[in-house]
Amino acid sequence: MKGFINKIQHYSTKDGPGIRSTVFMVGCNLRCLWCANPESMLPGYKLIYNRQKCQRCCSCVRVFPDAVTMGKDGCIINREKADFDRLCDICPFEAYEKMGFWMESDELVRIMLRNKEFYGSSGGVTFSGGEALLQSEFIEECMDKLHEKGIRVCIDTAGNLPWERIERVLKKADTVLFDLKVFDSSKHLQLTGCDNRLILENLKKTDAMDKELYVRMIIVPEYNDDINDLKARIDFVRNFRSLRQIDFLKYHILGVGKYRQLGIEYPVKPVGEVSEELLKQLQEYCGDVRSTVGG
Ligand code: SF4
Ligand code: SF4
Repeated sequence: MKGFINKIQHYSTKDGPGIRSTVFMVGCNLRCLWCANPESMLPGYKLIYNRQKCQRCCSCVRVFPDAVTMGKDGCIINREKADFDRLCDICPFEAYEKMGFWMESDELVRIMLRNKEFYGSSGGVTFSGGEALLQSEFIEECMDKLHEKGIRVCIDTAGNLPWERIERVLKKADTVLFDLKVFDSSKHLQLTGCDNRLILENLKKTDAMDKELYVRMIIVPEYNDDINDLKARIDFVRNFRSLRQIDFLKYHILGVGKYRQLGIEYPVKPVGEVSEELLKQLQEYCGDVRSTVGG
C-alpha cells in the first residue's frame, strides 16, 4: 500500500516520547485558522516558491507565460495552470519545490529501520499530519511492519473521524497524541470549521483503550486562550485512566512564511505571545496531572 506524505523528519523530540522519526501525512479534515502546516493540511501536491532564492532570471516566465508572471516582489504563479515538475526543473536557482510524494509501506519501514538505534526503548515512529488517520489503512500496514521490527508507533491525531474508521489502527498504536483545540463546540466550529462532538467522543473512547495518551492543547492568543475554556479542556481529561500528560503548545508564527510560499493568505491576524502567567495558571490548575509547555 502507498501513502501520500508531505515530509519525514528524523530525530524529533516533540512528537511523542523519546527520539522519533515523524511522518507528516498529507490532508486534513479540519481547517484550524492557525494551522502551521498548510502544506500538510491541504490535499494534493503543493508548489513552494522561495522568494529568497529567486534571482529574477525570468526563465520560468519565458517558458510558462500563462502560469508565471514577474511582479515587483518576485514571481506571481497561477498554480492551477502551472506544471509543478517542469517549473522545478527549469529554475536554475532551485526557487521552486514540489511538495508531496507517494511512498510504499515497505520503503517507509526500510527508512525508519536506519534510525532504529536512536529510538531506544521509549522513542519510535510518529504518524502526524495533516490528519494522519485520513490514511489509516496505510498507517496500519506500516505499523504492523514496524511492530514486527520492534519499533514503537505513535499517532498524532485531531480525532475528527468516525470511530469505526479509526478504532482498529488506534488499538494497535503504542502512543496517541490527541489534540484538543477548543472545548466550546460552537467556538470549535468557528475556529476549525467543524464542531467537536465527534472529537470529544473519540477522545473518551481512546482513553478507554489503555494506550499511552498525551492530550495536546494549542494556545493561540485571542483565539482559543479563554481560561475557562482551557480549564474545561483540562477537566474533561484530568481523570482519564490512560492520560500520561497534558502538553500546552504555544502558538508560533513559523507557519506564516509557508503560507506566503504557497501563495495563500494567512488567516490569523497578528497576535502576541502566550503569557507566562496564563501558562503558570494552567499548570497549577492541572494539579497532580503531569503537564508540559512546548512550542
Ligand atoms: S526561473 Fe527561478 S530564479 Fe528565475 S525567475 Fe523563475 S523562480 Fe526566479
Ligand atoms: S488539525 Fe492540524 S493539520 Fe489540520 S488544520 Fe488543524 S492544525 Fe492544521
